[in-house]
Amino acid sequence: MLKELIDQFYLENQKNKEQTRFYITDAGKCPRAVFFKFKNAPREPIDARIMRIFEHGENIHRSIFNILYRLRLGVVTEIPIPSQEIISGRADAILCIGNENYVLDIKSMNSMIFRKLLAPKEENVYQIQLYLHYFNIKKGILLYIDKDQQEMKEFFVDYDEALCKSLLDKFYALKDQVEKNVLPLRLEDYPRNWQCNYCAFKKVCKTELWENSLGRE
Ligand code: SF4
Repeated sequence: MLKELIDQFYLENQKNKEQTRFYITDAGKCPRAVFFKFKNAPREPIDARIMRIFEHGENIHRSIFNILYRLRLGVVTEIPIPSQEIISGRADAILCIGNENYVLDIKSMNSMIFRKLLAPKEENVYQIQLYLHYFNIKKGILLYIDKDQQEMKEFFVDYDEALCKSLLDKFYALKDQVEKNVLPLRLEDYPRNWQCNYCAFKKVCKTELWENSLGRE
């Protein structure tokens, strides 16, 4: 009884607003799925259990922020990137260690994924690169936390101007597709790509109905 009420609470509080700007977290995501978010296409509801996992991740972030403040690392947290026309985002923190500024991005995951993590995930590198770009900071730290065992791993990332340019070019190209209602292609390895497994737009992606509704051949 209580379990059902709690699940219901999570399901009723899902925010599925139409997206009007890109988010830094869209970097590295399937462009077709991002397109669907802009068009507010029908999506599968997120399971209440998954929403609780996200919430747990946010609580872990808050605990780390608390420690950073107590360490007096010149920390500011949850800082929006300077406003500009295409992209929004909020970095977890900016730290100063040994007179050097760092953008910090925190990621939490289960033990199984954490144990296998030998290098930062590509999409996480893309995101922190864009934070470095917009804050004009040359170094970043990706801090991964094992939610089950509370172990941590950190990876240092140096600003890569060419990579940021290519990421921003992709956002501009996708913006053009959104404005012209040109549906991006499916991922090359659809449906085997890991993103397809977790994609809320699986159904609409599979059908041709959406494409027809946009007046495509
Ligand atoms: S199912 Fe795969 S290809 Fe289709 S929108 Fe989702 S992530 Fe992209």
